Amino acid sequence: MDVLRSLFDEDQAERIRTIPLGNTLQPDTMVWQGDKSGEYMAKSGYICRITEEAHLLGNENTILTEQMKNYYAAIWGLKRITNTFLPTLKLRLEALCPLCGEDDESTAHVFRDCNVAKQVLQRLKVRIAPTHENTEWKLWLIETFNFNNTEQRTCLAVSFRPIWHNRNIFYHEGIRQSINDIVSFIKAFINEIKMLDNILESKHKIQEAHWEPPIENQVKVNFDTSFRQPNKKAVSGIIVRNNRGFVMGSCTYPIRNVRDPTTAEAYACLHGVIFAEDLGFEDVIIKGDSLKIVKKLQKKEKKMTDLLSEDS
Ligand SMILES: [Zn+2]
Repeated sequence: MDVLRSLFDEDQAERIRTIPLGNTLQPDTMVWQGDKSGEYMAKSGYICRITEEAHLLGNENTILTEQMKNYYAAIWGLKRITNTFLPTLKLRLEALCPLCGEDDESTAHVFRDCNVAKQVLQRLKVRIAPTHENTEWKLWLIETFNFNNTEQRTCLAVSFRPIWHNRNIFYHEGIRQSINDIVSFIKAFINEIKMLDNILESKHKIQEAHWEPPIENQVKVNFDTSFRQPNKKAVSGIIVRNNRGFVMGSCTYPIRNVRDPTTAEAYACLHGVIFAEDLGFEDVIIKGDSLKIVKKLQKKEKKMTDLLSEDS
């Protein structure tokens, strides 16, 4: 501590003290550099992308950056649709639109300017942002997306593939679908997604409320933490139950000098294991709600002390 105090001010020394130290050497591992967590998630990928695009479009344009953030947040909100439904395009270079023959077949033409797209979006009641001359497709899409409510955004996102499919079957097979066919398909698809979401949601709720007992001669440790950022303190709660649901022991642990909620969860998990061991149980299942901790523990055979020494 004296060395730390002699080198850093009080705040920095305190921050350094909150870094947990491992007692074993760690091998090098691959990390994602897009954010501090070191672990790639679709969300951190999005944030990286926003920062990159905002930089390309000029940092000074904060309104645009803000619009883009809203756009990606909205896309993220529609993830089931965008996961399954966004097309990959192979447009022909400098060729006229096969459907109307009025303009070059660009992304903007197929999904925005072509008469087919216009009519479909109009029928779906999607509000269209005004197209000034040479408005870049991406900027127009962001503006239109932010213009609309969730239902209209869903319609817009879902419309891309059927519009593209319509162009393809006309170009390759000479089949022309009616606007009605395309709109009906989009509406039916959205209804199906909604139904699926409702089923999954109710299933999830049932699972959440249900505590699954361990097998005979085994105990289950459930743990959770509350974390307070200002004073870097956390409290973990631990409960140990047997296969009949009887409580074998419970306790709370204050945790001081902890830097973030994930580290607090890791400490709680470690305390849970030690607590069950102290009670004399050898066959223990541990359950917490920190996805990160669970994933890391499942990845390799790791000790909790190793986990605490990693950057989380
Ligand atoms: Zn066209």
